[in-house]
Amino acid sequence: MARVVIVGGGGAGDAAAFALRKRGFDGEILILSADHDRPYDRPYLSKEFLRGEIETPKVFLHEESDYARERIDLRLGERVSGGSLQERRVELARAGHEPFDVLVLGLGGSPRRPPGVPAAGNVLTLRSLRDSQTLRQALGDSTRVLLVGAGFIGAEVAASARKLGKEVLMVEAAPVPLQRALGREVGEIYAEIHRRHGVDVRTGTTVESWHTHGDRVAGATLSDGGRESADLVLVAAGIEPNLELPRALGLPLDGGGVRVDSALKAAEDVYVGGDVAFHHHPVLNRSIRVEHWEVAKGHGRGIAAAVAGADAPYTKLPYFWSDQYDVSLEYRGHASGDDPSIWRGDRDGLNFSVFYLRDGLVEAVLSMNDSKTNELGGKLIESRSRLDAAALADPGVDLSELLPSGQATG
Ligand SMILES: Cc1cc2nc3c(=O)[nH]c(=O)nc-3n(C[C@H](O)[C@H](O)[C@H](O)COP(=O)(O)OP(=O)(O)OC[C@H]3O[C@@H](n4cnc5c(N)ncnc54)[C@H](O)[C@@H]3O)c2cc1C
Repeated sequence: MARVVIVGGGGAGDAAAFALRKRGFDGEILILSADHDRPYDRPYLSKEFLRGEIETPKVFLHEESDYARERIDLRLGERVSGGSLQERRVELARAGHEPFDVLVLGLGGSPRRPPGVPAAGNVLTLRSLRDSQTLRQALGDSTRVLLVGAGFIGAEVAASARKLGKEVLMVEAAPVPLQRALGREVGEIYAEIHRRHGVDVRTGTTVESWHTHGDRVAGATLSDGGRESADLVLVAAGIEPNLELPRALGLPLDGGGVRVDSALKAAEDVYVGGDVAFHHHPVLNRSIRVEHWEVAKGHGRGIAAAVAGADAPYTKLPYFWSDQYDVSLEYRGHASGDDPSIWRGDRDGLNFSVFYLRDGLVEAVLSMNDSKTNELGGKLIESRSRLDAAALADPGVDLSELLPSGQATG
């Protein structure tokens, strides 16, 4: 009977374990996770959990008893440091090793810490449940928060901190927030939204020097000349994918992650999913690495399908969302914010979608408070057909009519 060892108890790893059982896999399943908590819903950590709107039992993906019932051996606080694909075993950092027939890696990433950021007690990063607990406590004791970085984590924490009545200063080197993920124009809309909610947004700006007082940071001098005070700093400068283990195992590294084929396979009987997977996506026909929750969970389920014998590529389109204030963003597909775009809907009223095109094909659709268009946009991407730009832009045109016959939703 096969033994599946899953390294990483996050979105991808947890989904893979439960999906394997759902598919009738009857062998051993072992999850080795460096985290000290059982798998949880990471997106809550910058939103509802951080704001104290939900408590710990609700953030966990499963009850403790579910692991026993499904015969999933979950070992927490267990870091895997290396191993051998030839000998089919992984080595544990504490001591010992575990043999496997199939190895699954869902390793996520670690917060990036730009050089020069002091290691002070009130300078935090956010990745784990414990990070969020620490940040939540610190926010409660603070009045003015300095956010370094306006990617998704920085922007969501800014919105949460404003909701909690904190003063927020957001410092971002790029010209607009969320530029890397969403491009200049949508980033400008987000800058406006945050300013309207009282965030002091400084874009095109960096921290030049830190002011410390004992073992705490008391503020910073910015490149725009501002001398700013802060009693809490969150460094939200993106992640470094956790690649030490894949490197030690000799897996192929590419695109900032581990190169996997269309079925998420990196080597014989080795599968990789989530933030670290550089996946050859069969619909988009190119390799992509995506750092989002639904993608990680989908990869976990896709890996389970492959391990259980399905001989098919993983085709689900990337999807993510971000909630900031009362603005709900949804995104399907994968594009760069600089790709040619077609806008549809009410931009000023924050009720619109943007289609991103490459070589005439829709590669992604971004929607702000416009869920229905986003869903149909996904089908337009999957159709891989060339669409009329004027029709895409016209809110009077029913998008389902643009789908090739047979794919309309009715
Ligand atoms: C605060 C926050 C909010 C977010 N909000 C959203 C959102 O709103 N929407 C969205 O789409 N995405 C969001 N994300 C991103 C999303 O959570 C990640 O893309 C997703 O968790 C990636 O899943 P993963 O399984 O690849 O990695 P992770 O969920 O990070 O899990 C990796 C696991 O591997 C373990 N691990 C790593 N190395 C080892 C090792 N050597 N040995 C053993 N264990 C190891 C880690 O401890 C961890 O348990 C958010 C992320 C954060 C941090």
